[in-house]
Amino acid sequence: MNSNPGKPVAVVTGAAGGIGLAAAERLAADGFSVRMLDLSAGRVEAAAGQLRDRGLDVTAGGIDLRDEAAVKAEIDGLPRVDVLVNNAGIFDVIEFDRLEAGDLRRMMEVNYVPVFTLSQAASRRMKADGRIINIASRSWLGARSIAHYAASKAAVVGLTRAMALDLAPKRILVNAIAPGVIETAILDAWDEEARAALAERQPIGRLGRPEDIAAAVGFLADPRTGFITGQTLIIDGGASVGTLGGA
Ligand code: NAD
Repeated sequence: MNSNPGKPVAVVTGAAGGIGLAAAERLAADGFSVRMLDLSAGRVEAAAGQLRDRGLDVTAGGIDLRDEAAVKAEIDGLPRVDVLVNNAGIFDVIEFDRLEAGDLRRMMEVNYVPVFTLSQAASRRMKADGRIINIASRSWLGARSIAHYAASKAAVVGLTRAMALDLAPKRILVNAIAPGVIETAILDAWDEEARAALAERQPIGRLGRPEDIAAAVGFLADPRTGFITGQTLIIDGGASVGTLGGA
């Protein structure tokens, strides 16, 4: 990768599809050399191939982000690291009464702990003005039947705020994006009827698109937004703002 050693490098996790792929495309279009990582080596390589066919500077690697040693080796093996997008995640719906402690651990192991291991490894490689962008979820505010997932995303928001202060002396900026309902494979947990009902409940009247989130990733990675840190940007078509009418 990175034919030009002076070119900034962005790492995007969970980049085989959905929000991660859109973020990788956006950052590559904005001039980054993008390293796309995903649990599925085959899917992420295919996705990267499609971006390369369009002239974008991307490479891909298969990795299980729960493997701490693999995470460190991956980050240390890059020529440089300027931007890290912690996007990989898992999601499922389990009613509270059926939840088990193991479900919380499973979510934390994928959605939360790797955000720390990746960020620590990447921050050690970053120079001033490095960026860490964590994809949380609007459900961090609270949501039904996904307590295990919502709690893992609340942990990501807390980690974002704490890391913003820990890394501020190095002038590394750390922010989160909290998407609402975005049309990706993650929605396979809901059937068609439930999806239509979800779309109706969004004030903007549609579900979000991966590009809606990728645009904010591009914004937070932009050298001109160098005074924003510790923030969580909710992008949900207005759903978290309040009720639609009524007192
Ligand atoms: P997605 O399923 O398309 O993408 C998630 C990717 O993460 C997958 O490609 C998957 O292979 C990868 N992944 C999972 N476990 C991994 C592991 N252990 N190691 C490496 N990669 C792993 O879903 P998406 O909707 O694009 O989700 C991206 C992020 O956005 C997630 O963190 C998700 O929680 C968050 N999010 C999504 C929505 C939504 O409505 N789609 C809403 C809020 C937040």
